[in-house]
Amino acid sequence: MSEGAAKKEEKPRKFQAIRGTRDLLPPETALWNRVEQAAHEVFATFGFGEIRPPIFEATELFARSVGSETDIVSKEMYTFVDRSEKLEPQPVIGSMDVFLQRVKQLYKSGEIPHDEIGLELVEKQWQKVDDLLKGASSIESGAIEIYELIMLFEALRLGGDVSLRPEATASVCRAYIEHGMQSLPAPVKLYYMGPMFRRERPQKGRYRQFYQIGAEVLGGSDAPAIDAEVIEMVMMFFDRLELQGVQLDINSIGDRNCRPKYIELLRAELLKVKDKLGPDSQRRIETNPLRVLDSKLESEQGIIAKLPRIADHLCEECAAHYAAVRHQLEMRGVIYRENWRLVRGLDYYMRTTFEITAQGLGSQNAVCGGGRYDGLVELLGGPPTKGIGFAIGEDRLILSLQESGKGAVAIGRDVYIAWMGERAHATAIRAAKDLRKAGFSVELPPVEQKFGKALGQADKLGAKYALILGDNEVSEGLWTLKTLADGSQTKFTEPDLLEYLRKQKALSS
Ligand code: AMP
Repeated sequence: MSEGAAKKEEKPRKFQAIRGTRDLLPPETALWNRVEQAAHEVFATFGFGEIRPPIFEATELFARSVGSETDIVSKEMYTFVDRSEKLEPQPVIGSMDVFLQRVKQLYKSGEIPHDEIGLELVEKQWQKVDDLLKGASSIESGAIEIYELIMLFEALRLGGDVSLRPEATASVCRAYIEHGMQSLPAPVKLYYMGPMFRRERPQKGRYRQFYQIGAEVLGGSDAPAIDAEVIEMVMMFFDRLELQGVQLDINSIGDRNCRPKYIELLRAELLKVKDKLGPDSQRRIETNPLRVLDSKLESEQGIIAKLPRIADHLCEECAAHYAAVRHQLEMRGVIYRENWRLVRGLDYYMRTTFEITAQGLGSQNAVCGGGRYDGLVELLGGPPTKGIGFAIGEDRLILSLQESGKGAVAIGRDVYIAWMGERAHATAIRAAKDLRKAGFSVELPPVEQKFGKALGQADKLGAKYALILGDNEVSEGLWTLKTLADGSQTKFTEPDLLEYLRKQKALSS
């Protein structure tokens, strides 16, 4: 067999989307667009502007904000090394100064994104080694100095540790600091939408690449009205989409005054019943006892019900803040349920937390989670800043809309142009252009078809109308419009046709 023939017989590998990821296809993408458009519109009415942060950031950013003990950071992030390709292999002792010059150059040009290893540190270490080589310091410590310098260079050569974002609040705070947004009129109100990545076990409503629509309010005030307005905004958005079975749960998880004391109390109580808890909860007694309250394990429910409740252990300020948030929600007519077990899985939350569930989603029924995170900006090296925000799971939102029959979107074309003959083709091209300019969706077949076949095609595509253009129509200047639903036909002059279609569209929208 010739080489060519062998190649032909080799079956090409069939690729599939990676587990936990999926293609969003038409017509469903029209629903995604409708949802996103509604978010743009509703959020704009509350004065929010869109931010589009990158989808990968320094791993450290997420470790510090989301929390290195959380499942998200400890198990679920897609992390990789962003190799700095411009740095040649490890230097040898004799050519280290050349290497250092190169490092400096790359720092300057921003090619080395390593924040943790500052240039100063590298230079200081270099100085020590240089002194050593010039005989200015003793040789005993020399091996260590050189080793340390080489390790620094090696870390630089390998580049930064980066992760696909598992959520976007950390990025928004990073951007807030980086762009000095504290000098803008407060509060700064930002929203975002886009893909997030978590290596979770895929199931209905849970993906490894999923989409969130979220918003953050950052600034100097933690007025309870801000919390309430943010929640009101999400509820208005869901209302606009006619999301069914919406249930808002709220809680306060205290602040750095009262929460640590409560956590210790909770830990002590949990230790007393440790043997009766499952392995996940047992582990969490040490790492994150609040998360035990999240447990859905049937056997733990009775035990959890008897645990101390945070509402009874809030400090005076937190209790007052929580009461005011509830009052503010009531003033806005937002219906809520208090849920003392709502703690949320991310470290940065404090005081107000909330979660919204919707129908048709099975066990993964949370469509939105949010809360207050005063101090997060500071934790990331920014000025003292109050913050509150939420993230909506767009995949689940769409799923719920579809399950309740609220996800229908108009598909198909407005007009299918059935043309025959060269002259009619020219007219059809012009008609298509005019109709599209007027906002109608038009299918213009690329080759001539018999009218019968063309009408069949129009039907299959779900077209509302077929515009029939043959020699007669073109020479008379009267075009035939067939309404496909009832088969009726009417003749129109060109301007009358456009007018008629416009009126029909206005009536149906
Ligand atoms: P979180 O960022 O964990 O507070 O999640 C906020 C919202 O994002 C949740 O209420 C879900 O609707 C959605 N979400 C979180 N993780 C996933 C996932 N793996 N797949 C789909 N949606 C998710």
